[in-house]
Amino acid sequence: MTTILAVANQKGGVAKTTTVASLAAALHALDRRVLVVDLDPQGCLTFSLGHNPDKLDSSVHEVLTGDAKVEDVLIETAEGIVLLPATIDLAGAEALLLMRAGREFALKRALAPILEDFDVVVIDCPPSLGVLTLNGLTAAQSVLVPLQCETLAHRGVGQLLRTVSEVQQITNPDLTLLGALPTLFDARTTHSRDVLGDVSDRYSLPVLAPPIPRTVRFAEASASGATVLSGRKNKGAQAYRELAENLLAYWDGQADLKTYDPAE
Ligand code: ADP
Ligand code: MG
Repeated sequence: MTTILAVANQKGGVAKTTTVASLAAALHALDRRVLVVDLDPQGCLTFSLGHNPDKLDSSVHEVLTGDAKVEDVLIETAEGIVLLPATIDLAGAEALLLMRAGREFALKRALAPILEDFDVVVIDCPPSLGVLTLNGLTAAQSVLVPLQCETLAHRGVGQLLRTVSEVQQITNPDLTLLGALPTLFDARTTHSRDVLGDVSDRYSLPVLAPPIPRTVRFAEASASGATVLSGRKNKGAQAYRELAENLLAYWDGQADLKTYDPAE
């Protein structure tokens, strides 16, 4: 069975794209066949995995509108992950899809024929709660919410959780909310922990372990078109490796999902 995970938060800059790329690389290193889907018209995932969106002939856009077959659009990254890329054309997909029946199901339908080629699919949602994110949440079995550990991180979380609950009621009853993933975490201060404690109390949202530490390695990696896992040993890569191991143990039914208690 293929596991399909959406990474969503309508706030930008919370490490959605970084989480998709790094988690995918970690899962690949653990011998899983991984597909990543770039649903953001900005194409940051595509770019950070070494492909220039401006030089691609087709993308997830043509797949969603039915103008291309998904298998003709997939590309491989240097690290061995398979990518369904985005280009700026995707910005027009919102409007095109809005006029169609079953518009929330376009991605789910498109992925169906290739699912058995992959163990895990990770979907990078754009920073909005529009039709593209609804497609991501409708195609997924579970959703992970990266949360930057800073003041006001909770702003918008309520709205996101309402969207998840609407998707569960309308297009995807099987969708489960895995929890929040703390990102850009600073272990040296209590601030990050206070913020997490506040969010998890307010929304009774599980906080996943381990928190992803803030490190400059991420910016260096995405600029070079590879993930943090391909470079020198560093604590960011280590955290995503641990997350990948925790998720696989959970998905394989071998362990409970590991959570982080900010009060400890
Ligand atoms: P989003 O997809 O939610 O908009 P990104 O993944 O693009 O967020 O991350 C936003 C910025 O933060 C990027 O420049 C990225 O390199 C940086 N970043 C992400 N995670 C970390 C981290 N753990 N430490 C330091 N910088 C990070
Ligand atoms: Mg992004």
